[in-house]
Amino acid sequence: MEIKRGIAVSPGVAIGPALVLDTESFRIPQRYVEEDLLAGETARLREALAAAAEQARINQDEVSEKLGKQYGAIFAAHVHLIEDAGLAQEIENLILNEGFAAEYAVSRVMRRHAKTLESIDRGYFASRAIDLFDIEKAILRNLLGQRREQVQQLKEPVIVLSHDLTPSETAVLDPHKVYAFATEAGGRASHTAIMAGALEIPAVVGLGRFITDVSGGDLVIVDGNRGVVILNPDEETRERYERTRTSHLSFESRLGELRDLPAETRDKVRVLLHGNIEFPQEAAHCLERGSDGVGLYRTEFLYLGKESDPSEAEHLDAYSTVLRILGSKPIVIRTLDLGADKFATNTEYKPDERNPFLGLRSVRLCLRNLTLFKTQMRAILRASAFGDVRIMFPMVSTVLELRQCKMILAEVKEDLEEEGIAFNPKLPVGTMIEVPSAAIMAEQLAREVSFFSIGTNDLIQYTLAADRTNEAVASLYSPGDPAVLRLIDLVVKAALKHKVEVNVCGEMSGEPIYTLLLLGMGLRQLSVTPHKIPEIKKIIRSVTLQEAKQVAQEAMCLETARDVNNYLREQTRRILPEVVG
Ligand code: PEP
Ligand code: MG
Repeated sequence: MEIKRGIAVSPGVAIGPALVLDTESFRIPQRYVEEDLLAGETARLREALAAAAEQARINQDEVSEKLGKQYGAIFAAHVHLIEDAGLAQEIENLILNEGFAAEYAVSRVMRRHAKTLESIDRGYFASRAIDLFDIEKAILRNLLGQRREQVQQLKEPVIVLSHDLTPSETAVLDPHKVYAFATEAGGRASHTAIMAGALEIPAVVGLGRFITDVSGGDLVIVDGNRGVVILNPDEETRERYERTRTSHLSFESRLGELRDLPAETRDKVRVLLHGNIEFPQEAAHCLERGSDGVGLYRTEFLYLGKESDPSEAEHLDAYSTVLRILGSKPIVIRTLDLGADKFATNTEYKPDERNPFLGLRSVRLCLRNLTLFKTQMRAILRASAFGDVRIMFPMVSTVLELRQCKMILAEVKEDLEEEGIAFNPKLPVGTMIEVPSAAIMAEQLAREVSFFSIGTNDLIQYTLAADRTNEAVASLYSPGDPAVLRLIDLVVKAALKHKVEVNVCGEMSGEPIYTLLLLGMGLRQLSVTPHKIPEIKKIIRSVTLQEAKQVAQEAMCLETARDVNNYLREQTRRILPEVVG
């Protein structure tokens, strides 16, 4: 049994067989298998050799056709070697005599031969060693990894393990077949993590290297509540986790009783609790959990994984679906936030940039692609004729940029008016505050809009210069950092002064330890991942505003993220031990 610790990004516990996705660089540790499993191990080896030979044959045909037979011959030599009976026997002996796992035996044999070739002091033989490494990789890929496309055609439920997953790869996971996933890379507010929350798949990211310690089919536990992954758990651990899973489900079902109760403090201060969605159908999840509406619709997910841009009608269709579900409840539709870690398949919008998070992303990209921007604005305006729709611009970093967005919106309104198409002329316009410059200029921005939504996911990364997707800087990336709290404070004060609504829609607002702090800082609106709604509502209903204010005052005096987080955890635990425990 091995225990790995990472970052918990989507709650729940899952137990199941591992499906290891292909990884570019294999590092094979010395691993043994039980004696009674050795026969199975040699069978796995034979299968992997056969599959690798078949792939090499395909390569030979394709390369011969494209480049000529002499190049195809390189792969013919690979086939010859992989099918060599002596090689298979050598690896098999190592498995049977030493008890090694197939992966390690393959690696040992292939590397020994490669070393011998490298030691022959002549260019030709040394260069052949590269072929042996190539063959090693091909065999290991079949032993260890499965191709990413196969995740969409799963027959049995699995736990997906991978070095990393992109947001669009995550978006196509089927929650009925993928019980959980765990990745070596990734940070707490990456869009991959957000997708896991949307799909309600338990997930742990940022585990560091562990993939090569697992074979496909190994039993794995993913604890998305505590950020723990257990490989090959023993009987006792398995039983303990089965019990945890049951008690978690019963806590959740108790929270379900809050559905129809308002999110208000014990002293009757009403807080609007909204849900964040990526897909139209998620609006139903928000209502099922008792939310007051949708506080953030991340519309870029209409683009991810698609070859061509969605048409105005497709946009409108998605927005109408949400409105039908929500009835009279409000929805904030955010214009496209493409770029950085969220790319459309359409490469037109994928600039080659050195610093994509600081580059042509989001509203900057839209302002350069006015057709794209206007198509979406038309659909949002048209949807506004049928419900409580609000429009919001992401990643605004200057007042001028916001004014440009509003100007284009005004042009689109004029077009619709001329065409006689209905829309709400008073459509409320808001901006995200997720760049430090916007937080600093909140007073000026407040004069331009009717609401703010604080995007802490980006605000944290830009304030602390810590990539939200990079596990190596995850310790710096904290919502409790005093610098981040000071910026939030600035924004809330500016909003109150100028009487514009203010909401927090980053992942911070769904983390129970920050609820007291945010209420105490003056926030009366939060927008969270749907499955977090009951928990956050429970906390809101368990405190008085006075208590929250005291906590916020105390937290604002602390100087490090660690002190802030420890203090908030302690205060939340005092009020609701089952939430933090
Ligand atoms: C944020 O940055 O906090 C936010 C809500 O937007 P996204 O996570 O989509 O970047
Ligand atoms: Mg953002």
